[in-house]
Formats: sequence, structure tokens, C-alpha cells
Amino acid sequence: MWFFKSPDIVFGEESLGYLEQLEGQRAFIVTDAMIAQFGHAARVQAALEAAGFEVSVFDRVEPDPSIETARAGAAAMLEFQPDWVVGLGGGSSLDAAKAMWILYERPDMDPEGISPIEPLHLRRKAHFLAIPTTSGTGSEVTWALVLTNVAERRKIGLGSREATADLALVDPSFVMSLPPRVTADTGMDALTHAVEGFTCQWHNDFSDGLCLKAAQLIFEFLPRAYRNGDDIEARTKMHNAATIAGLGFGNSMASLAHGLGHALGGVFHIPHGRGVSLFLPYAIEYCARGEPGEAVATRYGELARFLGLPAATEAQAATSLAAAIRQLQLALEQPRTLEACGIARADLDREMSLLVFNAGNDNQTITSTRIPDDVEVRKLFEYAHEGKSIDF
Ligand SMILES: [Zn+2]
Repeated sequence: MWFFKSPDIVFGEESLGYLEQLEGQRAFIVTDAMIAQFGHAARVQAALEAAGFEVSVFDRVEPDPSIETARAGAAAMLEFQPDWVVGLGGGSSLDAAKAMWILYERPDMDPEGISPIEPLHLRRKAHFLAIPTTSGTGSEVTWALVLTNVAERRKIGLGSREATADLALVDPSFVMSLPPRVTADTGMDALTHAVEGFTCQWHNDFSDGLCLKAAQLIFEFLPRAYRNGDDIEARTKMHNAATIAGLGFGNSMASLAHGLGHALGGVFHIPHGRGVSLFLPYAIEYCARGEPGEAVATRYGELARFLGLPAATEAQAATSLAAAIRQLQLALEQPRTLEACGIARADLDREMSLLVFNAGNDNQTITSTRIPDDVEVRKLFEYAHEGKSIDF
């Protein structure tokens, strides 16, 4: 038995106008200071007020939001008593908004106890609307959320199907002014979702097509959106692709590149998309080699053929897919090694035991078709530091 979960999705230009039809009285917008500065929060606030809402704005979400921030937002919600919670921003704001919403509905909960097997009974107080302002995380359609335990320098992957938004508003006007670096980082996150959603152990018939289409759109339109941010077609396609990839991996799972990237981000504060996508070609090479003596059961052939890449065998498909991703990273001027991310080898070595522990215990690592032991996780970090192709 498995589930397919999706919010209602309004997409394309002028989707914001849909808010006129939203029913309710009090809306609580969760965002960050930068999004507020761009004027996005004011636009959403104006649209909600035009629909008759009283609006309150919490604009203090930090990158990699902490448990403390989630609690602070929930406390503000308990005071304001919204009937709609509106997450507006990139993954950090959307994830923080989900956590605040859950704690608003369930003030008794320990945020670390949010889990797919714990009934939350949400929506007794509010519904949840998600408006992404990056084309990447897919958080507007997924039930997962990531918080950071600051004291332990650890990212905590949490989730509940109930925490899926009621409505996602995928309007490209919110991403037109994204700087190129953010466009690249977040777009590569979406590609990692598409590839891992298709190739991880939890892939399924319902999510496969979404992952394939998203990967194709991203290879075609991300370089254009990066080179020319005013390219409305590329921006629209990337915005759709990120949400489609979110539906794909959100109903399947991410995998090893996310496990490694989460661990890296928790220690070195590399942006999520940059970290996970950096590991993607290494993770593909690693999985394609399989356990010694065992048949390799990967799906790189099907994905590579769909993308028009050479794929006579699984091994060739993995090689050509990893090469195509590295080529895309080059076109986007993305770092392809940990060294190019600015991480000195001595710093990597000093943090290695924490990195290995956190990557090994990340809940995305377990869905990999090949699961590395501690020695192999260490080697994956070392090879990614140097930019060496995986040979183990
Ligand atoms: Zn991701």
C-alpha cells in the first residue's frame, strides 16, 4: 500500500489573482526579511486584503530555520488565530511555515515528534497555502519539512502527509527577480529531486512520470533561466518543473545525494541545492557500481534514454547521466567539488566523524539502491572534495 498526495495547484502567470476566491477571515504570512524586502509579502498581503482577509506577517525566518523560530512563529499564530497560514518563500520559509502551523494546531507537540506515523489532526484551526519564491525545493507540494537543531548542528528531516499544503500557488512572477546564483542552486535542487525520485528504492508508477518530465524541463530550461532571468518562458518552465519534481520525489523519496548534502549543510552551511546537487553525480557513480558480486539494480538507463543520453547499458547510462549533470553544473558555474565550495581539506577532516554519522543516519540515505557503510561515506566526502570519479 502506498499513497499519492498533492495539494490543489494553481500555476502560470497571474496565479496570484486566484486568492480572490479564497474563503476565510484571517491570514498569517510566514516569510523572511529578504522576501519582504523584495515586495513579495506586500503583494500577497494586498491580494489577501482585497479578498477580505485581515493579515499578519511574520518575516523572521532564517536560512535553515531552527526549532526556536518554529516555536516563535507558532506563538504569534496562537495570538493572531489565523484560519489560513500562508508560507511564502524558498524552502526555509515554507518548511518553517509548516512547522509553525503544526505547532499552532498542536501546541502540545514536540517538533521532533512530527512523524508520518503520528496522527496530527491538523486543519481544526487553519488551512495551509504555499507560495514558492524559488524554483527548487518543491516544499509547496511535499509533506516533508527540515528544521535545524542549532545546538547539535544537525538538520532534522520531519514530515507528515497531513502537513501537505491545501493549495500551492505557482506563479512565475515571484521568481523573475531571483539572482543567477539562487536560480542555479535551487534549480539544481529540483534536478536532484527528479533524478533521486526516479532512481531511489521508493520509486513508483505514480511518481515516475513526474520525475522524468521534471528532469527533461530542467536540463532544457535551467541554463536559459540562469543566463537571462527575464526569460519568462524559461522562468515559467523552471517554476513548473520544480513543483513537478516536488510531486515526484515527494511521493517517492530523495536519496543518497540528499543524505550527503544534508550532512554537509548542517556543518558547513552550504545552500541546500548546491550541496545536494554537488553530490548527485558521485552518488550516481557509486550506486551504478553496486555491491561487489551483486547484480546492479539501478534505473539510470530508462532516465538517460528519456533524456536522449547514450544508454546502451546501465553502466553507460550512469556515466552519461553523471557527465550531463557535471556539464550542466559547468554551464551554471556551480562548484563541482567541496574544495570549490570553499571547504579546506583540514576542515573537512576535522568534521568528518560528524559528517559520516549524520549522512549515515539521514532518512534519505536509506532509500538509496546502494547504501554506503561508514568507510564508504567518508570516501564519498573525500572523493567529492577532490573531484575524483567514484571507483569503489
Ligand atoms: Zn532537495
